[in-house]
Amino acid sequence: MTKHIFITGGVVSSLGKGLTSASIGLILERRGLSVSMQKLDPYINVDPGTMSPFQHGEVYVLDDGTETDLDLGHYERFTHAKLTKNSNFTTGKIYQAVISKERRGDYLGRTVQVIPHITDAIREAIHAGARDANEGEVDVAITEIGGTVGDIESLPFLEAIRQFALERPRGDCLFVHLTLLPFLKASGELKTKPTQQSVGKLREIGIQPDVLICRTEKPMDEEMSKKISLFCNVRREQVIEERDVEFSIYQVPVMLVEAGLDRIIARHLSLPAEGATDLSDWEAMVAEVKSAKRKVEIAIVGKYIELHDAYKSIYESLSHAGIANHAKVVLRKIRAEDVLDQGLSLLEGVDGVLVPGGFGERGLEGKIAAIRWARENRVPFFGICLGLQCAVIEVARNVLGLTDAHTLEYTLDTPYPVIHLLPTQHGVEDKGGTMRLGAYECRLLEGSLAQRLYGANSISERHRHRYEVNNAYRERFRAAGFVPSGINPELDVVEIMELRDHPFFVGVQYHPEFKSSPLQPHPIFRGFVAAALGSRSRAGKPDLVPMESEA
Ligand code: GLN
Repeated sequence: MTKHIFITGGVVSSLGKGLTSASIGLILERRGLSVSMQKLDPYINVDPGTMSPFQHGEVYVLDDGTETDLDLGHYERFTHAKLTKNSNFTTGKIYQAVISKERRGDYLGRTVQVIPHITDAIREAIHAGARDANEGEVDVAITEIGGTVGDIESLPFLEAIRQFALERPRGDCLFVHLTLLPFLKASGELKTKPTQQSVGKLREIGIQPDVLICRTEKPMDEEMSKKISLFCNVRREQVIEERDVEFSIYQVPVMLVEAGLDRIIARHLSLPAEGATDLSDWEAMVAEVKSAKRKVEIAIVGKYIELHDAYKSIYESLSHAGIANHAKVVLRKIRAEDVLDQGLSLLEGVDGVLVPGGFGERGLEGKIAAIRWARENRVPFFGICLGLQCAVIEVARNVLGLTDAHTLEYTLDTPYPVIHLLPTQHGVEDKGGTMRLGAYECRLLEGSLAQRLYGANSISERHRHRYEVNNAYRERFRAAGFVPSGINPELDVVEIMELRDHPFFVGVQYHPEFKSSPLQPHPIFRGFVAAALGSRSRAGKPDLVPMESEA
């Protein structure tokens, strides 16, 4: 029977609950267990698809097209858990299900209430998430509760997990609570009070955490863990320190195993306790991150540059590609509109240019100018989704001479609509879930760079967009050396374009960043970073960098 781990967070948000949850998933898999990963988000949006990246960070997309919280990206980068629409529930999604049942008359005659109706729906959601790829039972289901204990919004979720554990045999559920030990400079010490209060809140609801993971920038000493143990009613060895990582988030699982978390979980849930947690390949990867001696600088020219989380998976994918190329990728984040306002000198000296996906017209011309700069200066370029669409506009205007070429997303007034909607998409009004979402097949052109990088003829990648390259211009692009090298056979639409006479100029309509992991870097990111390294050494820039000074 499936065992359950619930992970809650206290004191403040942004403690890295998603990373910690993903790390626990990895650790258990490396003990030979199957896991599922799930996030319950207390906000009322049905999914994060309609939220601005400024609000919520990146919208992560699954194979089945579900638009989810970015923590699911951590889950996929760390584990093999199969993620589906049942892997992310929000308050909105839960209420939507309950309200449509009420409208159907399923509760006829009764008052519909938070307890039991909403909490029952949450419990059903937890069961639905605890499945492997073949709909079979997993050994351990890991559920992360979004938000911070003490928020009004998260109460129904906490109540539901309390009830969930109450109905299962003792020792079937484990509650992990992640907190912060703030360091007070004035007194030079770590403080435990916020942790005590957060655990107090949880206990009021009826949840006694079994494990406390304490985020801290300074080591937690014996006295301190004794105190936390006593005041929070958690066994001393189950109060664990999670120190700020030195150089990579991928150190977290290694640290947690060193702190004995793997054995604590195994013991508490009566999982096979013998045998080690084999993280050897993971540790080798972390060592590679640490020892990288080369550096490569990539410009990200985007709209949501100020917020690191807005391009989370892209930054992660670049770092994976760095690992594969024994190099550290340094990011130069450039607001697309600044390229127009302040000039192309912002790009001076970078080894590669990446234009990520996005919505909205702001910054569009800046992206197009940056792409032109990369094309003309033979600097490697990688365009993702809107980044591909901008490259198509750029090449149309400046290579094909179609001066006013544009995308119909932002103007209807162009003689050359090189990016347009498919006829089947006209007239769609609803803003939620109306995009081409999730996994689609892509056939690769024989002899293309894309085919060489993937080492395959057919691939599957995830999408999130409405607009497409206009097939009416395909031939003209091909004739000019801008070749459609990946096609979706079912819709006959362009998925990849690559420029022939250039060190690396590739645009993809899909989001490759959702399929990269540190142990399996994505082939196009890998090729892009390799090309950027090549361009760097051709430019005679130094290879070896003192890594300390980079941090
Ligand atoms: N806004 C563009 C579209 O909808 C691109 C979307 C994206 O980059 N994810 O087609």
